Amino acid sequence: MAFTDKIYVKNHRQLASQLETNVPKGAFSGATLDLLFTGDGLSKLDSTTRDRILDFSEDFLDCDCQANPYCGCPERKFIRYVLELRAEGLGPGAIVDVMTDDYMVYAYTGDVRSFLDNAIRKLEAVETLADVEGNDGMSSTARQARTELSR
Ligand SMILES: [Zn+2]
Repeated sequence: MAFTDKIYVKNHRQLASQLETNVPKGAFSGATLDLLFTGDGLSKLDSTTRDRILDFSEDFLDCDCQANPYCGCPERKFIRYVLELRAEGLGPGAIVDVMTDDYMVYAYTGDVRSFLDNAIRKLEAVETLADVEGNDGMSSTARQARTELSR
């Protein structure tokens, strides 16, 4: 299961009742993306909720791919967002708080922690491989990214 499959819509029951439709729990599930992307019924939402959904849509669903929002960009952008929060020094719990404040989505702290651990392990593997291949540029990029995530 991808990390972005474990990002959930906060208060999704409330949201469903405001929209008078079924809202899936997963923020990146197809039906949720459709709902956000088409903007259908957004006018039925209270302004705070609407603003956050629009922010989410602007920040993650704004690419020009033909397959949008199923092109993979939203997930990639969200992962970058989480990694940037970590690089700013936030721990898993604080990262969850910030994503809820910013976009009304949440994840379980343990899932964020294992995602970050995985990211660090992947960077270690990239670094090792780059060292073996004598690719100094790649090696130092991976090392720098890993240092940012580890502090
Ligand atoms: Zn795209």
